[in-house]
Amino acid sequence: MLARLGSGAASPALFSRLGGGLRALSGAAPKRIAVLPGDGIGPEVMAEALKVLTAVEKISPARFATETHLIGGAAWDAHGVHFPDATRAACGKADAILFGSIGGPTAESDKPKWANAERNALLGLRKAFTLAVNLRPATVYPMLASLSPLRPDIIAQGVDILVVRELVGGIYFGAHTTDGDRATDVMEYSAAQIRTALKFGFEVAQKRRKHLTVVDKANVLDCSRLWRRVATEMAPSYPDVVMDFMLVDNAAMQIIKAPAFFDVLCTENMFGDILSDAASVLPGSLGLMPSASLGETVHLFEPSGGSAPDIAGKGIANPIAQILSAALMLRYSFNMEAEARLVEDAVSAVLADGLRTGDIALKGQPTVGTAQMGDAIVAKMLASKK
Ligand code: NAD
Repeated sequence: MLARLGSGAASPALFSRLGGGLRALSGAAPKRIAVLPGDGIGPEVMAEALKVLTAVEKISPARFATETHLIGGAAWDAHGVHFPDATRAACGKADAILFGSIGGPTAESDKPKWANAERNALLGLRKAFTLAVNLRPATVYPMLASLSPLRPDIIAQGVDILVVRELVGGIYFGAHTTDGDRATDVMEYSAAQIRTALKFGFEVAQKRRKHLTVVDKANVLDCSRLWRRVATEMAPSYPDVVMDFMLVDNAAMQIIKAPAFFDVLCTENMFGDILSDAASVLPGSLGLMPSASLGETVHLFEPSGGSAPDIAGKGIANPIAQILSAALMLRYSFNMEAEARLVEDAVSAVLADGLRTGDIALKGQPTVGTAQMGDAIVAKMLASKK
């Protein structure tokens, strides 16, 4: 189903009839978003992200056309598969994919509805759209400093790290062999794979504080030395970005000791897996953490956490990770930097006002529900443009 966001939007039929006329009015064709709410808290937090996109339309020339499709257990119930063809086709036509989460309670993971749901749906999406690079920001909000395991004096220096991880190469995808008491896992990279990841690394650095740290183990591994060679070859094409190299063991320490050093940290698959998990504990809740998977033709944006079956259906999930995922979509798929910032600033503003969902509240602190948090963020956005 195709839907235009925004209260004053034309009906889909009228929109398609008017086509160019509407485009001329709004200045550009609407961005087509494949919306995949999925399971558990997915639909609840997605509803809030869509409210935010509607607010973006109200206060900027941006226009969106959304198509909502089933994925995961929800798709299984309707079609007996986790990644239906219709969902795949809609994603193929979209300018971006906004994903919620999938999966059921871990105790039910053997049931056909949930068995391999994540693998079938998420790996299916990754494969279908060659989502080769993963972005995971870790931002510590000063007003939520008490949730972070870091010391206040470290947080005061500013913690806003973006881990860019190569996703389809390296040791996870090399040959694996076991022969009695001997096992081998092969790490392999081509210059082309490295270039793809570093290109995104340089480009996202250009949209941030223009500092790229390439993390490797170049004192031991030939693959890492190839990463350094390719990075050094590419750097002159991005003269506004300051690039440096850091060994992965040192990076693991600096993420904890001196996180303010980092802006964009780009690295290979396994190092990125480990470092992005290390960085992910800094903000204090999964409910705050968006992510992106970047592909050749389309990018996918989703919360870092899962479907949270323990709180699904209660209206208490934190929608911020989903809303910030939509902000990443505005920035990285649609090049709408001002709109992305508007959303991110509104999130900071409601947190500064003291609004807390359960996952980010201190003991005894009053909490709000999913929809209240979404509404408050929308209100901040609209107020900022009055
Ligand atoms: P989870 O991330 O769903 O939940 C871990 C904890 O974090 C839970 O206590 C949950 O309540 C909390 N949490 C997560 N997001 C929150 C939010 N927005 N607001 C408030 N609290 C939040 O991880 P899990 O429990 O290990 O996995 C549950 C299901 O999710 C499993 O089926 C798993 O396979 C799936 N999963 C899916 C994805 C995905 O869709 N990309 C990622 C991870 C896990």
